[in-house]
Amino acid sequence: MQTNFSLAQLADPHVAESEKILRKCVHCGFCTATCPTYVTLGNELDSPRGRIYLIKDMLENGRPADKEIVTHIDRCLSCLACMTTCPSGVNYMHLVDHARAHIEETYRRPLLDRLTRAMLAFVLPHPARFRAALRLAKLAQPFAGQFEKIPALKPLGAMLKLAPASIPKASPMASPGIHAGQGTRRGRVAILTGCAQSVLDPAINDTTISLLTRLGVEVVVPQGEGCCGALVHHMGREEAALASARQNVDAWTRAIEQGDLDAIVITASGCGTTIKDYGFMLRLDPAYAEKAARVSALARDITEYLASIDLPEPVHKPGTIVAYHSACSMQHGQKITRQPKELLAKAGFVVREPREGHLCCGSAGTYNILQSGISAKLRDRKVRNIEATGAEIVATGNIGCITQIASAAKMPVVHTVKLLDWAYGGPKPEGIREDRAVVAAE
Ligand code: SF4
Ligand code: SF4
Repeated sequence: MQTNFSLAQLADPHVAESEKILRKCVHCGFCTATCPTYVTLGNELDSPRGRIYLIKDMLENGRPADKEIVTHIDRCLSCLACMTTCPSGVNYMHLVDHARAHIEETYRRPLLDRLTRAMLAFVLPHPARFRAALRLAKLAQPFAGQFEKIPALKPLGAMLKLAPASIPKASPMASPGIHAGQGTRRGRVAILTGCAQSVLDPAINDTTISLLTRLGVEVVVPQGEGCCGALVHHMGREEAALASARQNVDAWTRAIEQGDLDAIVITASGCGTTIKDYGFMLRLDPAYAEKAARVSALARDITEYLASIDLPEPVHKPGTIVAYHSACSMQHGQKITRQPKELLAKAGFVVREPREGHLCCGSAGTYNILQSGISAKLRDRKVRNIEATGAEIVATGNIGCITQIASAAKMPVVHTVKLLDWAYGGPKPEGIREDRAVVAAE
């Protein structure tokens, strides 16, 4: 694509990066067919190609964002299906991240939208605040339907509906410290404790630590790590996202200096995509660029890490049919497609893949709160495709997808690592009933 940026504009490294991306786009439109918002809304401006034109026009003309561009960029899930489809290697992720930061800097949203976003950015990345907010949400939950009828209060209604019926206790295993590996030592990793996941389902990381230590891997929970920054990053709050990235880079650098780390293990693929991008996000910060690149190079999804070590035979093979839902951040953001399915199959599960697996479930960070209408359509489509597999358990590797799909599916939705732990001698994951487990015919 031809671009017309001035030399003065290109002196801004963010603009220069976006110009490089824009020049790669050849307008072919292949990406439209796999874009969930184009598939749902049928509007070119809600397709990757349409958004690319809008972003180009805004940046080239040095214009502040307007209502039209904000509408279409806000509707983008950042699912990155377009990047998987694009034959020209257009890095839509970095382009839309830049556009979101530009919107945040130059556009004044309506008051309630601003308040909702400020509240999400204040609460979600902080486990103690999120836990307190969920308690309040339980009290207000009966009014969720009323809120959803008022357009400006829709996000509040959507948020209340997503609040879980019970809030698990905080896990002591998430406290900073070292969990020693058992038997022959196979490695040493740090684990991201994270934010929302540690409140909604702390058992995911507890299970991961238990499985890894049984396999002989030492697991470090580093002092000082926190939210990866993805939630605020996707809202265009660049400074907050970079502050989170720096905090984690510092924490993991200390852990690396205390003894070699083979990996930084992440159990939420949404976080993994962002942490693998820290090297890019902090490339312009001389104090952090090198350290951040080292952290990104060490980041591994738990399934990526497990696939890299020589696993023993499972203790028992459940033989259960499992629908594997590949989170967008897993398949498009990190290009991890093979490992989770192969690990599940090796552990004795019969893996089925739902149709239209490339399409987002509509979770996408805070999307199911801020764009609840489109999100619900995508969720229902996803659940129909999952149910058509005939499986009675859904496995996936991202807490956002677990919450989203579980809000409409009739079957249990569990993290992949819980099923693997079960097969390798851990307890049966909560919510799976023996009588609901469909055992595949030999
Ligand atoms: S990130 Fe997803 S929703 Fe956004 S343009 Fe690309 S395919 Fe469409
Ligand atoms: S597929 Fe790639 S090159 Fe083609 S229009 Fe989409 S982003 Fe541009």
